[in-house]
Amino acid sequence: MRILIAEDQPATASILETILSSYGRCDIVENGKKAVRAVERAFKERQPYDLICLDLMMPEMGGREALLKIRETEKQHSRQSLSHYSKIMIVTAVTDTHNRQGSLADGAAVYVTKPFKKDDLVRQLKAMGFI
Ligand SMILES: [Mg+2]
Repeated sequence: MRILIAEDQPATASILETILSSYGRCDIVENGKKAVRAVERAFKERQPYDLICLDLMMPEMGGREALLKIRETEKQHSRQSLSHYSKIMIVTAVTDTHNRQGSLADGAAVYVTKPFKKDDLVRQLKAMGFI
């Protein structure tokens, strides 16, 4: 499967990549704007992402805004050519109910809080049906 990691902390991005690269090819970007652009590019290549990990607090554009824009992009492409909706996993240090509930309502599949362990991610991959 194809995986996109949007995370502004290189150390965290690297941990995510180490764990997730067992399950698919990972691309890494450091803000929401680049995540949206990467999703566009993947659609053009006709190989959209299966899983997108979004940090909430990132420069330029945070994860909540990116999530909405990614869903918009997917909706447009689904109408025109390729119908595909990625599973979105929020990975964040933000633990409040407002952000958790809001992200899930906006279409995130799962919400993981930092610090996380490999087992936490594997459990979520199972919950999303990837493994
Ligand atoms: Mg961050």
